[in-house]
Amino acid sequence: MSAMKRRYSASDVALAQFERAIAHMDLDEDLVAYLETPKRELIVHFPVYMDDGRMKMFTGYRVHHSTVRGPTKGGIRYHPDVNLDEVRALAMWMTWKNALMNLPYGGAKGGVAVDPNQLSRNELRRLTRRFANDISLLISPEGDIPAPDVGTNPQVMAWIMDTYSVAHGYTTPAVVTGKPLSIGGSLGRAEATGIGVTITATAMMKKLDMKPEDTRVAVQGFGNVGSVAAHKMWEHGCKIVAVSDVNGGVYNANGLDIPGLLAHVAETGTVIDFPGSDRIDNRETLTAPCDVLIPAALEGQIDERVAPDIRARLIAEGANGPCTMEGERILLDKGVRFVPDILCNAGGVTVSYFEWVQGLQSFFWAEGEVLERLTRLMAEAFEHVWRASQDKNIDMRTAAYTIAIQRVVDAVEARGIYP
Ligand code: NAD
Repeated sequence: MSAMKRRYSASDVALAQFERAIAHMDLDEDLVAYLETPKRELIVHFPVYMDDGRMKMFTGYRVHHSTVRGPTKGGIRYHPDVNLDEVRALAMWMTWKNALMNLPYGGAKGGVAVDPNQLSRNELRRLTRRFANDISLLISPEGDIPAPDVGTNPQVMAWIMDTYSVAHGYTTPAVVTGKPLSIGGSLGRAEATGIGVTITATAMMKKLDMKPEDTRVAVQGFGNVGSVAAHKMWEHGCKIVAVSDVNGGVYNANGLDIPGLLAHVAETGTVIDFPGSDRIDNRETLTAPCDVLIPAALEGQIDERVAPDIRARLIAEGANGPCTMEGERILLDKGVRFVPDILCNAGGVTVSYFEWVQGLQSFFWAEGEVLERLTRLMAEAFEHVWRASQDKNIDMRTAAYTIAIQRVVDAVEARGIYP
């Protein structure tokens, strides 16, 4: 490898994963070119007044990877590193995730290059409303439905919904999901991704004969996905030995008290300095002595530099694209098993789909019904991927991709190419 720091490309990873899967399929090369090309990409540059009276320019993106199976669906990310390459990869992953879960959606993603922690609430609101206005060319309940991702939350979704509704003159709840309950959010949505991670990770543990009481878990990232996954795995009887966030990590070989840690984070905003834990860094979280590793932060965290030192037997990908191709290859060669991202973290978009359906019908479900349907769909998708991986003797990611890609191909063939 060159001594120069290589720039990480999420799109390269997404395309390489796609190409690895289609090697197991019999697809025409023209069709392959169609499937790997995003349908449309919007870049917006927009001004926002800061609290000090100065106007600042921001750049945002919305990418539709595929619209073949239905309206596009995918989150909106606020993070300083957001760029077109990353949003393009995340949009493509959404196409496969939605198809794998058999949701009637294509794939999209959006984002703004900004650190939301550096903005006041009013600045965040103005930025969100202006961004929502500028991507309203693309979003609609029938066309493209955003949701939260890294750095965004139900409040941000509420502002997007309100901005769209004001422009159209009537309230349009189904234009976003992950909204607050008071304006048409779904019960169970906030926890859905972490619950889905736990359903699929524990299903895989069963296949591998791993007993919860003997299973140590490390979790990278303690936001929407990581904190819920840690809590649910803890409730399931696993020992959560390491947890990290952007500030660093905490470790306890005997298991961290997760309810106590959640209270500590609610109070201090970070996992660090949690009483009864040792301080570790982000790398040490990934390489901690554990049986299951749940990356739940950002892409590209598990690369060829850290993979050789990872001790987990099972990686449950809460984050999208947490492994580079080189990192994954090293782990697969060591016999490490994966629950791949498009399966593992699909609980979020699945309950987003339920929220959208509830919004369109103005008829809301009890939490038990949401969780029962989520559990059933996740368990079925897991079994489908597991069977495909066993039948074809391929890894779980490649199995998941072949199922998803075939569903998109079936839709392309049924619709035909216009004109
Ligand atoms: P979030 O913003 O709620 O949390 C992100 C967490 O990662 C925070 O705790 C942050 O401190 C931490 N983090 C950031 N950089 C880190 C680093 N270098 N090392 C350790 N921790 C770091 O975001 P989220 O919604 O939980 O999303 C996390 C991942 O899950 C992303 O890849 C996202 O695309 C994916 N995902 C989210 C959802 C969802 O419903 N929110 C659904 C599917 C997939």
